[in-house]
Amino acid sequence: MTQAPDIEYEMPKAYDPGTVEQKWYKFWLEKGYFTPKIDPEKKPFVIIMPPPNVTGELHLGHALTATLEDIMVRWHRMRGEPTLWLPGIDHAGIAAQVVVEQLLAREGIDRHQLGRDKFQERIKQWAEKCRRTIAEQHQRLGASCDWSREQFTLDEGPSRAVRTAFVRLYEKGLIYRGERIINWCPRCATALSDLEVDHKELAGHLYYVRYPLADGNQFITVATTRPETILGDTAVAVNPKDERFQAMIGKKVILPAVNRVIPIIADEAVDPAFGTGAVKITPAHDPVDFEVAQRHGLPLVNILNPDATMNENAGPYAGLDRFACRKAILSDLEKEGLLVKIEPYTHSVGHCDRCQTVVEPIASKQWFIKTQPLAKPAIDAVTSGRITIIPRRFTKVYLNWMENIRDWCISRQLWWGHRIPVWYCRECGELTVTIEDARVCSHCGSANIEQDPDVLDTWFSSALWTHSTLGWPSNTEELGYFYPTSVMETGYDIIFFWVARMIMMGLEDTDDIPFHTVYLHGLVRDEKGEKMSKIKGNVLNPIDTLEKYGTDALRLALSMGTSPGNDIKLTPSRLEAGRNFANKLWNATRLVVRSIEADWTGREIQWDLLSTEDRWILSRLSRTISTVTSLMDDFQFGEAQRQIHDFLWGEFCDWYIEFAKIRLRDGGGVLSPILVLVYVLETSLRLLHPYMPFVTEELWQSLKRHLSSDWQVSESIMVAPYPEADDKAVDPGAERVMESVIEIIRSIRNARAQHKVESGHWIEAQIYSKQLAAAIIPYSQTIQTLARARPVTFPDSKQEAPPREKALVMVLKESEVIIPMESMVDLEAERKRLQGEIGKSQAEVARLGATLRDKAFLTKAPAAVIDKERQKLNTLTDKLERLKQQLTRLQT
Ligand SMILES: [Zn+2]
Ligand SMILES: [Zn+2]
Repeated sequence: MTQAPDIEYEMPKAYDPGTVEQKWYKFWLEKGYFTPKIDPEKKPFVIIMPPPNVTGELHLGHALTATLEDIMVRWHRMRGEPTLWLPGIDHAGIAAQVVVEQLLAREGIDRHQLGRDKFQERIKQWAEKCRRTIAEQHQRLGASCDWSREQFTLDEGPSRAVRTAFVRLYEKGLIYRGERIINWCPRCATALSDLEVDHKELAGHLYYVRYPLADGNQFITVATTRPETILGDTAVAVNPKDERFQAMIGKKVILPAVNRVIPIIADEAVDPAFGTGAVKITPAHDPVDFEVAQRHGLPLVNILNPDATMNENAGPYAGLDRFACRKAILSDLEKEGLLVKIEPYTHSVGHCDRCQTVVEPIASKQWFIKTQPLAKPAIDAVTSGRITIIPRRFTKVYLNWMENIRDWCISRQLWWGHRIPVWYCRECGELTVTIEDARVCSHCGSANIEQDPDVLDTWFSSALWTHSTLGWPSNTEELGYFYPTSVMETGYDIIFFWVARMIMMGLEDTDDIPFHTVYLHGLVRDEKGEKMSKIKGNVLNPIDTLEKYGTDALRLALSMGTSPGNDIKLTPSRLEAGRNFANKLWNATRLVVRSIEADWTGREIQWDLLSTEDRWILSRLSRTISTVTSLMDDFQFGEAQRQIHDFLWGEFCDWYIEFAKIRLRDGGGVLSPILVLVYVLETSLRLLHPYMPFVTEELWQSLKRHLSSDWQVSESIMVAPYPEADDKAVDPGAERVMESVIEIIRSIRNARAQHKVESGHWIEAQIYSKQLAAAIIPYSQTIQTLARARPVTFPDSKQEAPPREKALVMVLKESEVIIPMESMVDLEAERKRLQGEIGKSQAEVARLGATLRDKAFLTKAPAAVIDKERQKLNTLTDKLERLKQQLTRLQT
């Protein structure tokens, strides 16, 4: 049996997050609190963690994800729901391969030298190290996920799910292999999906090139941004309605540079307004041209090697890099007089989102998912309300993408990932597609077969993540109990990459939605609101940050003001606020713990004996609990946090504890506040626990340590019940009285501050309150102590009040506070001070007046200078008037 870690009997003076955090995380882990028990009687709460890429360390975006998910998970767990938060890691196919290739490059090794198996071995070792780092970092963030169920996308279970899903889709005709235009990254040497391409508006050129007609000496001029692709043209096209080219349709032209004869065709897709109205058709290197070629039966001519050098189809340019080829061909065209003109032209250029290389559209044989049949149920799931997207505005974004979805290219020319489960037969040419590794061809039985060398897009396995992690395709107890999951919490930037595809594949594989709610959080930005990036140097590392401020402070700063879909700014002042709050709670608890030792009387609150301030704080606590609960139900975690913070700091620490200190000091006949202190503190710590798990556990355990053993049955705050509002405790009468008392104290304190009254000096206060006087009078001692006011009197009528001009009158919500001026300031000294100031001001007024009457000044000085002097005089005259009024008020 694991024992609770040692709690020092004497709480140290200051909170030291480092030691406390490690101690409690270990305790929670050993107790098995993170692993839920399957209880068919109860509805579980389930979050599948978005698996971080194995490529490195956690950044603040991950820390935000972990914080928000941990808040939800701890909250539901405390409410007694079997709660599963399943962690995982993504193998990040292309990104991981890029990183390891770079590591190898430093050793002077190319992956082809190593070969596929050895390269995979290297990447596996490296991934294993990354996995451990990421898990440790999550633990430091306090993430209470079930490590016993941690999954890696390449693990056996998820890999089997990938193969099963592939084979099922293939058998239904929803996966096909075909030649299509795909985005090719020459650096990564792989196909990319449309989502993996960043489109940037770049300043380029539009080149006008003349193609000579095969008969006669006419030309047709086309415009292009990529002149090297001329080498791959198989037609020139015009719009059939374009009058200018009617006579040319059907004729042949001679392709410059390579002298191939190609036809002029007519196609509706041509925009007569672009360039000259005639366009070149390069079907192997442009998606629109590809479709034109399909309609007209034109051949495809691929002119590029996988590394974007020109291939043998480029004739004299073969072997050149694509950009060197562009230069060479332009210079040749110019020599032959075929280059008509060059115009500056801004156009969208696709870049690989992993390595930022310019991608090439290339016709290529790849595997695709036919997405439209999958999109339909995914649209219905959201429009019918079975899946809710928070914030709501993203519903439209989702539906818009789904309704215009294009087939998804899922094959990647990589070595790291799930290899495509397709075997090609060298004997009969047929495909064998199976879940188990194929030994022989399923058509002719030949063993002369070879597996497809490509792997699947990483997002293919991510799309299955909600069900593959729970055991699908096996019908496991976990899948039956925890699926569909409750909330998918992730960044809005991967709504298409991931959320949309999970909905499609979840419905396809399990015939059920993968989750009920999608919660999309924003990005973490720096204090100026800028995106954090390594280039800008404004990146905060979560581990450095939590070492400096404490994990709870980081979590508080990340969840402060957070609301669905909106970006947050992480500033040093927020982190400091988080740290200060932890210290405030620490000090409050120390005080309560010391008081328990002195004054512990029992453990039942006797409600009928309570004083107004006790009933007030209990009422406020109950109201805070119900507000917080409804905010959390509504995913408003930032606002819920603010409510807890303001109650604990602004009401409990600042006021109730101050009131209680007076009672504790006076002792004797008054009812001790200790029971209420303990009750409110203990309940509030539970209320706050999901946000600040470490400091609340430490403080809660300190309380427990000082109270009788049967006081709390739970071993840890994280498995103690979440507070529930108690309607009986709500007491509007007590709230009204205490709000008035607090307002009175505050007004006197403000008056003292305004008039710079020294702290040792006591001032007099008269309080008038028709309705509440009887209830406030018992607090005159409290008001005296906390406002440093003596005497505090409650006169019946204003006849006793000093004349208005000699008093400060403050009109409050339900009362009036009158402070005689002479009690705040030494009248004689104040009069002298005012006279001195009046003298100084008068002299200055006189001097300015003289200047402004001086004709020489008025004629020579610029108007602006004169204006400025006039303004000065006005301000000063005004000040002088006010000083004189103040002095009159003080004259007796
Ligand atoms: Zn790339
Ligand atoms: Zn065969």
